[in-house]
Amino acid sequence: MNAGTAGSNPALSAISAGPGFEQTNMNMDLFFEIHSGLPREGPGDDASTRKAFGMVSLLPGPSKILDIGCGPGMQTLELARLSGGRVIGLDFHLPFLRRLKESAAAAGLSGRIRCIGGSMADLCFRAAAFDLIWAEGSIYIMGFEKGLGTWRRHLKRGGHIAVTEVSWLKPDPPAELKEFWEAGYPAIQDIESNLQAIRGCGLEPVGHFVLPESAWWDHYYRPLEERVALLRRKYADRPDALELLDAETLEISLYRSYASWYGYVFYIMKDPASG
Ligand code: SAM
Repeated sequence: MNAGTAGSNPALSAISAGPGFEQTNMNMDLFFEIHSGLPREGPGDDASTRKAFGMVSLLPGPSKILDIGCGPGMQTLELARLSGGRVIGLDFHLPFLRRLKESAAAAGLSGRIRCIGGSMADLCFRAAAFDLIWAEGSIYIMGFEKGLGTWRRHLKRGGHIAVTEVSWLKPDPPAELKEFWEAGYPAIQDIESNLQAIRGCGLEPVGHFVLPESAWWDHYYRPLEERVALLRRKYADRPDALELLDAETLEISLYRSYASWYGYVFYIMKDPASG
């Protein structure tokens, strides 16, 4: 998750600092020390990627897929396996792309996965280039509606978009939780509002589902917790570092307490031309 509200500097709010994380004070080196080598940079798992992909009907012919904010690329690899097509992983943090390149080579997928360094706000692709645009845990950086509105011009007629977005699962969250999200990501909405936003962008929702809690823990929060514990010992005499580590711990502990109130939701949608 991030500190960035929609419209804040995505280059700084990019990866997974907890809400409450002050961009101006942050120590980028430490931030990347926390957030490197983790299996993922946000909640997700291969089973959820597969489930979402199962709701997509690809256009005839070899598919071209764009994975925006791919990070270390767990879902990029899965998309290449599932589709048999070509997948571009786009991210602005080059060490993630280097790692994805290595994983693709190890999985024998180098021929079908291309890594491109660039900004999700200014995509360097022609219009209508992709059959499928994918973004797990990254559209919040642009803002849900703005991301969809900006990216859809790169979608072929009849193509699909699938994204995950943190969403309220029930109304009236506890004050502590509400305050946390208001500070970190005030644009968080409930599922119905996000479905409306999808329609407002001229897209048609084809399905959505809440990621299981295990998708937060297995590849993200548990490894992140271990990393934070390690770095707490390393930086025991560095208050600035401890502040950043505390923000990570707070985010994790809130999810542990309040997982029934919010979650990551996969939203799958299509260009209405798909009929
Ligand atoms: N999709 C990956 C996953 O689920 O593990 C990563 C999700 S992580 C929360 C968000 C990703 O977006 C990070 O890899 C970050 O480097 C990338 N990112 C942030 N701002 C970006 C931008 N402006 N352009 C491109 N990528 C960006």
